[in-house]
Amino acid sequence: MNRRDFVKLTALSAGSAMGGGKLLRGALAPAAPAAPSAPLIGVATAAEPLSRPNLGQLLDDVQKRTGANAFFPFIYSHIEERAGVSPPGFRGGNYAIPHMQYYKDTILTYEDMRGPEFGDKDLLALAIAASKPRGIKTFAWIIEDNRRPQIPHWEQLYEIDFHGRRTDRHPSGPCNNNPYYRGYLLGLVEDYTRSYDIDGLMWGSERQGGLFNALGAYHNGAKADPGKATCFCEFCQKKGRAKGIDVERARLGFGEIEKYVRAGRAGHRPRDGYFTAFWRILLNYPELLAWENLWVTSRHEMQGELYRRIKSIKPTLPVGWHIWHNVSFSPFHRAEENYAEMTAFSDFIRPVLYSNCAGERTHSFMQSVHQNILGDGPPDEMLEVLYRQLNYRGEAPYGRVAATGLSADYVERETRRAVTGVAGSATQVWPGIDIDVPVAPGSSHCTPESVRETVKAVFRGGGQGVLLSRNFLEMKPENLNAAGSAVRELGLTPPTPA
Ligand SMILES: [Zn+2]
Repeated sequence: MNRRDFVKLTALSAGSAMGGGKLLRGALAPAAPAAPSAPLIGVATAAEPLSRPNLGQLLDDVQKRTGANAFFPFIYSHIEERAGVSPPGFRGGNYAIPHMQYYKDTILTYEDMRGPEFGDKDLLALAIAASKPRGIKTFAWIIEDNRRPQIPHWEQLYEIDFHGRRTDRHPSGPCNNNPYYRGYLLGLVEDYTRSYDIDGLMWGSERQGGLFNALGAYHNGAKADPGKATCFCEFCQKKGRAKGIDVERARLGFGEIEKYVRAGRAGHRPRDGYFTAFWRILLNYPELLAWENLWVTSRHEMQGELYRRIKSIKPTLPVGWHIWHNVSFSPFHRAEENYAEMTAFSDFIRPVLYSNCAGERTHSFMQSVHQNILGDGPPDEMLEVLYRQLNYRGEAPYGRVAATGLSADYVERETRRAVTGVAGSATQVWPGIDIDVPVAPGSSHCTPESVRETVKAVFRGGGQGVLLSRNFLEMKPENLNAAGSAVRELGLTPPTPA
């Protein structure tokens, strides 16, 4: 696609959005931002580079290599890799300054939230100050941590499994129906929106409901404890009852799933086969699906609340969502993240399309679900079935996919699926592509060629931007250069001055 086609496509999608009359959209987003004149070329980064005295030079260098016009720092995290430092006693937290008037609806204190690793520095303010003169946008990027912070108040925000135990790590997390978690998140986005001259905000949650967590239906899911499915906290139970769901039946259903998954992992094939046995549990306990739906809709409700809070303060500020990589592997999670419905609260979506590490993740997903729902045939044959379900063509077989990764064709197909999903709205699609996301020994690695091809695939698929991911600190210079050469070959940014 050349630049003229791209501009035409963008104009077309903006035009159809005006006449689209999308469900709820008019009420929620009266002033959705117009399509930018140039596609967004973003770089995601840990917080640490923002603390460097030579941040300006660093931005110049990244801009020269990639044509980047936006930076997405992990600005709030209790995970070392996202902070980019790991001193003894690491705690993490907010690397901007919490303004406490916005946190009245949570139990978290200033000390609970403020990240101590960079002293008195306000990294969000520093990022904005260095980026603005260079024409680079700063997006506050918040992703849920996959381990509970070692801070007592956080414990009360976390989900409860169906045995009644508090959880402390992925695939569980803070509960979307816990008013203190919602209060914290709403306060955080209000704080960033009011206190800082940010150019946008992206939030992400790499989670799904308890049913598919219990089945281990995600990469690394084979390690998941099927007895830790969530959430049965007091708030979820109350909400479930209000929706007419029999909470005890849901709990019993999770007990049946736990037995089913443990038996499969021990190699005991059910008498009538894995798929039939699974379906029979659903037939007997439809409350399981109702509980999954409760979890999914609660998360989307919360996203809608975050969207409305930000828009009530600054209607033109772009607000969007990181979409967990699991939609690339799991037809179940794909069903939960319906892009068409998300347009009601999304200015942009950023599906994770990390093609290189997708190889080992696809293998890991299959390895897990092959011990239950997709266990009725050899894994290489079942992966071919899965590829059909996901609409992938010619991807590597089970025995080789970790060593080859998925292709640029996967990136193009998934971009196009997202673009088609949001068609008729003003929501833009900015996929995240893989630049040196760490992988296990023996797995494939990114190359300049693979990076160049995936950037091009995003725009062939109709994406309106691309986010070079996932963390600047992991990216090799030659692969950043390759992303930039693709951007320039596509004519998406002015040529870099010599
Ligand atoms: Zn809950």
